[in-house]
Amino acid sequence: MNVLGPLLGTKERPLRVAIVGAGPSGFYIADALFKSDINVTVDAFDRLPSPFGLLRGGVAPDHQQMKSVGNYYNRIREKNRSRFQFFGNVEVGKDISINELQEHYDAIVYTYGSESDKKTGLPGENLEGSYSAREFVGWYNGHPDYRNYKFDLSQETVAIIGQGNVAIDVARILAKTPQELHSSDITAHAAEALKKSNVRHIYIIGRRGPVQSAFTHLECKELGELIDCDIIVHKKDLILDTANTIELEENHKAQKNYDALQAHAAKPLQGKTKRIEICYFHSPKEIIGSTHVNGLKLDKIKLTGDAYHQKATPTGEEVTLKCNLLFRSIGYKGLPIAGIPNFDDKKGIIPNTDGRLELSDQSPCYGMYTSGWIKRGPSGVLGTNKPCATATIKTLLNDLTNNHITPCITPSSDAIKTLLKDRNIRYINYEEWSTIDAAEIKRGQKVGKPREKFISVEEMLHVLKQEVLN
Ligand code: NAP
Repeated sequence: MNVLGPLLGTKERPLRVAIVGAGPSGFYIADALFKSDINVTVDAFDRLPSPFGLLRGGVAPDHQQMKSVGNYYNRIREKNRSRFQFFGNVEVGKDISINELQEHYDAIVYTYGSESDKKTGLPGENLEGSYSAREFVGWYNGHPDYRNYKFDLSQETVAIIGQGNVAIDVARILAKTPQELHSSDITAHAAEALKKSNVRHIYIIGRRGPVQSAFTHLECKELGELIDCDIIVHKKDLILDTANTIELEENHKAQKNYDALQAHAAKPLQGKTKRIEICYFHSPKEIIGSTHVNGLKLDKIKLTGDAYHQKATPTGEEVTLKCNLLFRSIGYKGLPIAGIPNFDDKKGIIPNTDGRLELSDQSPCYGMYTSGWIKRGPSGVLGTNKPCATATIKTLLNDLTNNHITPCITPSSDAIKTLLKDRNIRYINYEEWSTIDAAEIKRGQKVGKPREKFISVEEMLHVLKQEVLN
């Protein structure tokens, strides 16, 4: 309750908001705050020196059009320079605690996404050669956490478990020719490894049917444009029973997917070097191998039950796919940050009501909010995070109006800077990030790419040192 001093959100005392995680959701939160009619200052923290989260480290490097949304995020910062600061290379929960943030900010919004992945629980999940798709995506996108990963691309056959857009991304990147990747911002080390790749046959495996495909039709269609890769969809998988016919008729998204799948199925094989095979009705049972993956055991599946209540039921028939490289692409999962008041470990999200944190007894935790994947789970496309952020900020502004937000003790970003400096935390501000960004673009231009990313924090810091010397 704000009883002393000027009202929060006024010119005399702007509301101070800390955003934890400067990815797309963080920027949409900042945008929604700046578009509101309160006076507000925003400090966005990210554990990496670079902002943009999954836009940089998740969106496929050959989807440059989607990456251009970064220009929008830059404009949010540009228009609000005096009230929007970036603290990159600062890990909340480690370099600075949540309690400390509370001392310096009136409200905290958690937008740090899903940093882990769902586990299949299959025997053999942790064998060598079995990776989460998230790790592979991070590697080819130059995320510092994954730069030292080695994927054995000398293998001919790759299995991908799951049929979401991440599975499609992984398959497409594995299937593209070096020429097709050339205009992307795939990191040099990944491009080099993929150039030498021996991968020929990529299976994208779904435990249910075509109507339940988790990918979207544009991504499915795009596979048909690959220069040196045939797409295999089995016509028999597209024969629909009554329940699936009902589900398809009532679902526009599924209908579009189905049309794209039919187009693939109708196209004769053209003898291209690589093949992507989209397989339905196969549920993974065991990842086989002693130390290294050498196969995937699958149960054949039939869907039983009425429309919308169909169950994946094993037919009793088993098949084994021989493969030595496997990606688990069954969805991301959020992790807690040390000091967060409540976390749902099962769902991997921060429990909340309309974006306001909920304590374990379900009472409201005023002053703490969340948005994006860590609020609702890993679903939707980038743009989904915009209305998600608007909804959270509506809740925050209501709480402010109703005097539920307690002013912090030390409303000062300078105090935060001092605290970080005292701890030898080399935080990166937006101007410094812009220098790193420009250096990456310059490196890319030399080789005809949109950018050549720095893949370690050290390299990024080194660029800044060089700039100072020049
Ligand atoms: P996703 O869309 O949730 O797909 C997960 C897939 O894994 C589904 O096919 C699911 O099948 C399957 N699965 C789950 N548990 C399984 C298990 N135990 N065994 C076998 N299969 C299992 O996840 P995602 O691909 O990681 O994508 C996350 C989000 O990012 C999505 O919203 C996606 O659209 C978005 N994204 C978008 C783009 C883009 O716009 N181009 C690119 C990448 C990601 P069931 O349905 O049977 O559970």
